[in-house]
Amino acid sequence: MENPILTVQDLTVQIKNQQDITILNNINFDLQKGETLCIVGESGCGKSFTALSIMGLLPKKAKAYGKIMFKGKNLLQLSNEELRDIRGKEISMVFQDPLTSLNPLFSIYEQLSEIFIAHGFKNKKELKTRCLKILEDVKIPDPKTKLFSYPHELSGGQRQRILIGMAVALEPDIIIADEPTTALDVTIQYEILSLFNRLKRKKGLSALYITHDLSVVSEVGDRVIIMYAGTILEQGPKESILNNPYHPYTKGLLNSIPSLEKRGSYLTPIPGFVPSAENRPKGCPFHPRCLKKQAICTKKVPDKTFVSDNHFVYCHLVK
Ligand code: SF4
Repeated sequence: MENPILTVQDLTVQIKNQQDITILNNINFDLQKGETLCIVGESGCGKSFTALSIMGLLPKKAKAYGKIMFKGKNLLQLSNEELRDIRGKEISMVFQDPLTSLNPLFSIYEQLSEIFIAHGFKNKKELKTRCLKILEDVKIPDPKTKLFSYPHELSGGQRQRILIGMAVALEPDIIIADEPTTALDVTIQYEILSLFNRLKRKKGLSALYITHDLSVVSEVGDRVIIMYAGTILEQGPKESILNNPYHPYTKGLLNSIPSLEKRGSYLTPIPGFVPSAENRPKGCPFHPRCLKKQAICTKKVPDKTFVSDNHFVYCHLVK
C-alpha cells in the first residue's frame, strides 16, 4: 500500500477533566487513494472520535496528540480558519441522523447554496443550477420542486441522500461517513449504500466509513479496522476480515450478524459491554468479555502480530 491520501499516526485523544480520560489510544492507519476504509466497533469504541479528530471538530475539552497527515500538513496543528477551508472542500463528512443534520427552518435550496456561497460562488443562476445538479445526482424525484421544500417535507432516505450530495458537492478528496444508514429502515439502507458507492466511484473519492454493523462492510468496504475501547484490535482487507478473522472480538461481531444461513438458530451476542473510557481494563482491553482469556491477558497488552502481509491482529493467542 503506497499511496496514502491520509495518514493517522499515534493518534491519542484525551478529555481534560480533574483526571485526564483517554478516549483514543495510539491509533495508526493509512487511507489509500480511492479506497473505502471501514472503521467498525460498538458504541463507545472511539470510531466517531477518530472522525471528529480528522475533521478538527473535537469537543473543546478534548486534546489530540500525534499526527494526522493530509497533503503534507498535520491537521492537528492547523488553525480553525485553515481547517474551515479544508472542511467540505477537501474533506467532508456525512453524519448519522439526517433530520438533525439539516436545519428545519431553511429550505433545501438555502442549505445547499450555503455550501457554495461559503466557498466563493455568488451568481444566483449558477447557484441554482449547481443545487439542482446535486438533487439530480442523488436521484431525488421531481428535483425542481423538492429544491424549495423543507426537510420535514422529505422522507428520511431523501434527507440522507441530500446530505451525501452536500458532502460530495465540492468534490472533496475524502468523504467521512459516520453511520449514515443507522437511522433508516433496512430497505432504504441498501439504497443509500448503493448511492454512496456510485458517487464515490464517479467522483474518485477516498472514504472512511464508520459503522457498528459488520454486515454493511461487505457492501462498501475495501479494508476494515476493528476498534474497541479506543484501540485497534484487528485490521485487514475486507475479504480477509470477513472470511478469516483472528481476533475473538471480530469473531464475536460476525457471529452476532443475522443471516439466511443462520435462520432457525440462535444468534450469539458478545457477553457484557464496552468498558467506559474511565474504566478501561489493564492488559488486553477485551479480556473482561473474552471467552478465550488467558492469565497473561489481564496483565499485558498484546503485541501486533501480522497474519498475512496486510492483515494484523492484537491478541495473545495469535503467534
Ligand atoms: Fe481474548 Fe486474551 Fe486475545 Fe484479548 S488477548 S482477545 S483476552 S485471548
